[in-house]
Amino acid sequence: MEFIDEKIEAYALAHSQAESDILKKLNRETHANVMMPRMLSGHLQGNLLNMISKMIQPKQILEIGTYTGYSGICLAQGLQENGKLHTIDINEELELLVRKFLEEAGLTNKINYYIGNALDIIPTIKETFDLVFIDADKKNYSAYYDLVFEKVRSGGYIIADNVLWSGKVLGAPEKMDADTKAIDSFNKKIHNDNRVEHMLLPIRDGLMIVRKK
Ligand code: SAH
Ligand code: CA
Repeated sequence: MEFIDEKIEAYALAHSQAESDILKKLNRETHANVMMPRMLSGHLQGNLLNMISKMIQPKQILEIGTYTGYSGICLAQGLQENGKLHTIDINEELELLVRKFLEEAGLTNKINYYIGNALDIIPTIKETFDLVFIDADKKNYSAYYDLVFEKVRSGGYIIADNVLWSGKVLGAPEKMDADTKAIDSFNKKIHNDNRVEHMLLPIRDGLMIVRKK
């Protein structure tokens, strides 16, 4: 299910900042060489993450789910001088590609790239985060939220991607597959959490934007 009319999206993209050469190249290489290229954030969402990060001007960002580095490169654009983006992915096969693009983007010093299971790695990162982007395996979204919550400063943000799961969250609860159920219960968990303000933004595959009070 596409949430935005195709022509409207094309018009919006045509009147938005162009994708940088490096992001274009990363987009192309991901589509040519990597499994499931649809997972890459892409031009529209990448622009949004770039803008959000520039609005927040974070010192410390945590990204759960690096994939080929597209969203990470976008999020890193808003980092303060000396700021750091910590990004985690379990897929070691992507390491060379990710490191090559971080290097080309001049971000080697700004990004700490961890390879392993985010459930194990998050507790080892002793930082306070201004912004967290959750975009790894859907079944663990609630666990990631609980793991990071105390590490997010008051007034900090947690953004979770794919929370509309191509519209499958509208299905009958008894017919939902495991990932859809996990996402639906994550959305409900946020909605019932009075420690935060939140909104579900129906852009691309849905972004849950959460602000810790
Ligand atoms: N944020 C990227 C896309 C991420 S795709 C972008 O927008 O461009 C989801 C990624 O989560 C995949 O690369 C997958 O390897 C990773 N992942 C899945 N389970 C994980 C886990 N338990 N810990 C860390 N990463 C995981
Ligand atoms: Ca995603």
